[in-house]
Amino acid sequence: MATDARPAIRWPDGKQFAFTIFDDPDGQTVEDGKRVYGLLAEMGFRTTRGVWPGTPVRTPNSLGAACDDVEYTRHTQMLQAAGFEVGYHNHTKHSSRRQEIIAGLDAFKDFFGRDPSAMANHYNADAMYWGPARLTPPLRAVYIAVTVGRTKGRHFGHIPGHESFWGEVCRERIQYCRNFVYADVNTLAACPSMPYHDPTKPFVNAWYASSEGSNAPRFLDALHERNQDRLEAEGGACIMYTHFGHAFVEGDTVSPRFVDLMRRLSRKPGWFAPVSTLLEYLQQYQGLTQLSDHERRKLETRWLWEKVFRGTS
Ligand SMILES: [Zn+2]
Repeated sequence: MATDARPAIRWPDGKQFAFTIFDDPDGQTVEDGKRVYGLLAEMGFRTTRGVWPGTPVRTPNSLGAACDDVEYTRHTQMLQAAGFEVGYHNHTKHSSRRQEIIAGLDAFKDFFGRDPSAMANHYNADAMYWGPARLTPPLRAVYIAVTVGRTKGRHFGHIPGHESFWGEVCRERIQYCRNFVYADVNTLAACPSMPYHDPTKPFVNAWYASSEGSNAPRFLDALHERNQDRLEAEGGACIMYTHFGHAFVEGDTVSPRFVDLMRRLSRKPGWFAPVSTLLEYLQQYQGLTQLSDHERRKLETRWLWEKVFRGTS
């Protein structure tokens, strides 16, 4: 019998809830990254910084520093040494081919001493199960209709034979990949089965969900005082999806509201570990969940509903 219930989580060190962030690099300059991460480090957060390991060789589809910037990579290595996780945001800030992707993962290993554990897709051709492939039929057709086909036929990381295919490399080298993003600050309440394996997406070992905080206004909404208090009361876990390059820093000043909210959160009895550390901990509770058809339909329906009516990512 299908059930969505999972036992209440006992967090490490007697903590009451968990909070972390996967930060996509889009739009983030080296200097702004130093400002935001300096604050996070000082407040005791240890989150995940997504990077592009590859040097751009074609026209970028996004702004933001990549690992060809020596200072950016040096700063990321310092964060890693301080306990932050380095995640993967596809090869670079434009679509890439299979051999480039493999060379980029080797470069990641040179920079950071290991393969990435967690990734989040960038809107490249080499994205894994992205666009309409985030869903299964019949909701896939609904998604194509509501997005007017904008994302159809653009993502091929999981399509054998395509020049951007790297599916089995992803399975060999990366453990966790983000798919659904929900409005609820308690990601674990929206997706109790994470991390989960989805047999309809065999090239990804395990999936996780996130909470909507893609830019500063959305992040600040999600982390409103009342949501912080609810996350704590529910004993939940938040994996915030964001871009620290999207309106968190004006001039040389980090958003004062961001600083206040993060400071308030830091004083709560939360576990503030990186994304992979949190997912590995969750995985200890029930092994790796095999997503049932019932659970998949529930996750897909809620995600699509919120995307259409609440504009989530
Ligand atoms: Zn991106």
